[in-house]
Amino acid sequence: MIVTRFAPSPTGRLHLGHAYSAVLGHARARSDGGRFLLRIEDLDPGRSRPEFVDGTTEDLRWLGIDWDGEPLVQSERGALYAKAFDRLCSAGLVYPCFCTRSDIADALHAPHGLGGVHYPGTCRGRADDPKRRALEPHSWRLDAQAALARTGLPDWREDGAVLQSSRADFDDVILARKDAPAAYHLACVVDDQASGVTLVTRGLDLRLSTPVQRLLQILLELPQPEYFHHPLVGHDDGRRLAKRDGSPTLANLRDRGVDGRALAEGLRAGQLPLGFAFLED
Ligand code: GLU
Repeated sequence: MIVTRFAPSPTGRLHLGHAYSAVLGHARARSDGGRFLLRIEDLDPGRSRPEFVDGTTEDLRWLGIDWDGEPLVQSERGALYAKAFDRLCSAGLVYPCFCTRSDIADALHAPHGLGGVHYPGTCRGRADDPKRRALEPHSWRLDAQAALARTGLPDWREDGAVLQSSRADFDDVILARKDAPAAYHLACVVDDQASGVTLVTRGLDLRLSTPVQRLLQILLELPQPEYFHHPLVGHDDGRRLAKRDGSPTLANLRDRGVDGRALAEGLRAGQLPLGFAFLED
């Protein structure tokens, strides 16, 4: 039986790409008599808003998508993430990081943003300084190469194939944020296991997350789900969906009189409304 999930971050209203993701996951689960779960990934206290959580459930209902059980809310699950974190900590695989975004950009000579680049390792291998930790905000990072030395390079199952990772797929990702007890990757693998997820359905933009999530699953002895990364929806001129480009939210489409159930039906058949297209990569 397929158990899958839709896991939006409530930092804005849902758009067509979210709708596509939810429709595909829902269809995969329902075609198999399986479960479709909703998870609210609200670990970023600065950007998450309760009104966007309400907006998410409203938009899903409009699309005619139902979910099983109560939505799981990550901000309420700190104790569980802390347990997993402690395990990695006891294994000697994490280190505190005091870097700011601009420290990292300076170290990398990458002033124009950090998208897709690896952490330069500034804080790795430093002697622990509890006094500094008591005084300065810090996150905690995975020592990815130390972890790989124990596990070897993980593979994962994607759409029926077994894919092999390479060393370059791994970064010293943040496991616990400066402002929250966990960060995305750790919370994601803990929750996927806790919810019994057998199939992770999400966009291709998150494909790079899969090797490090597999690594965490191995370290924490969690079961291995299947992965399915779907194409991203953009504008038909190749632009990504972004608020600044005037991309409509689902709420905007509803206000324009679009029928949510008909939209979901089209998406299920791989049809996008006029003006939108699947992006190449
Ligand atoms: N919260 C992530 C997002 O909104 C999705 C995470 C996942 O599906 O693993 O992009």
